[in-house]
Amino acid sequence: MSTIFNEANRNKNHYVFFNDFQSESLPFREEIIGAVNRVIKSGWYILGNELRQFEENFANYIGAKYCIGVASGTEAIALSLMAGRIGPGSEVITTNLTAFPTITAIMQTGAQPVVVDIFENTGLINWQKIEDHISEKTRAIVPVHLYGQSCNMTEIMTIARKHGLFVVEDCAQATGATFMDTKCGAIGNCGAFSFYPTKNLGAYGDAGAITTNDENIYLQLISLRNYGQTQRYYHDHPGINSRMDELQAAILNVKLPYLETRNAERKSIAQRYRQGLKKVTCLTENDYGQHANHLFVIKSPKRKQLMEYLENKNVQTLIHYPVPVTSQKAFQWQKDESLPESEKFANSILSLPIYPELSKENSNYIIEVINEFEE
Ligand SMILES: *Cc1c(COP(=O)(O)O)cnc(C)c1O
Repeated sequence: MSTIFNEANRNKNHYVFFNDFQSESLPFREEIIGAVNRVIKSGWYILGNELRQFEENFANYIGAKYCIGVASGTEAIALSLMAGRIGPGSEVITTNLTAFPTITAIMQTGAQPVVVDIFENTGLINWQKIEDHISEKTRAIVPVHLYGQSCNMTEIMTIARKHGLFVVEDCAQATGATFMDTKCGAIGNCGAFSFYPTKNLGAYGDAGAITTNDENIYLQLISLRNYGQTQRYYHDHPGINSRMDELQAAILNVKLPYLETRNAERKSIAQRYRQGLKKVTCLTENDYGQHANHLFVIKSPKRKQLMEYLENKNVQTLIHYPVPVTSQKAFQWQKDESLPESEKFANSILSLPIYPELSKENSNYIIEVINEFEE
């Protein structure tokens, strides 16, 4: 992408960035400053009232019994698997098209990720191919609700129950999304969330959370995220240090009540794109749930040219993701296996700007210039 990055454009007035963090905090900046002050005055920075409050608020929002605040989305996945006793010698099934942290999280537990091809119209894991990859070592499935859209959890839970597999939903891109009438994160054994700043609910630093309805898993996670400590100075299992700090929890307590409105703003931009775009293919929106519209992804056979064209029209785009898992150097396991849909998909997708601060004027401009693109 560096070859087409046009530095001069960035100084122009009408450059549309992929994200806009200068504007992002404006609606709640004073409230956040107040919350940060409150934490500093309290002098309590780790495992305190703000985190307790956030865990209660977020569990209620998702409709799960328990929430455990952790340091990142990656560690939310890793810790969930650890709580399910998944580690060295186990295989964990996930998708070939995801943010690579899904894979590193599985590797962090010592387990072996095994990836499955995708549906070409949504980019989601092709659940019909999951059983082909189940071996006697398979212990878990990590379905990724990619771009903000739920996987087909009826089918995935049926396969999991049939083979006795633990399910960790990767909800990093799907905070607020639903499957049927249930929020993503309340369906599998655990839901793993990321509050990385670009996500639908973003902290001002790294943070993540796990939701679960299982008390035993909850109690294990409370200890696993805190050096495996069960009571002060007593360590019953080898845990890690992965706690959400009080400052991030306080910030998320301010931002959580705004999430539904902000997701609705994302939705109206997505609808505008779907109605307005004439020359490119939009991904399919399944009718079984609410899309969280984390990313808006289109497909074009002339992806490279379209991306350069948009950069010249002062629109920044990104690719999520240009390299499938099986083509990553850090992933050796299934190198020779052909997963044709994910390879084709990765070569034709492009993500357009979508965030609550994106003005109607700018999204209309994006539609207009794409419709003028000469193929
Ligand atoms: C962002 C993301 C993660 C990782 O979350 P972090 O908080 O950055 O560790 C994992 N999976 C998916 C699908 C993501 O988009």
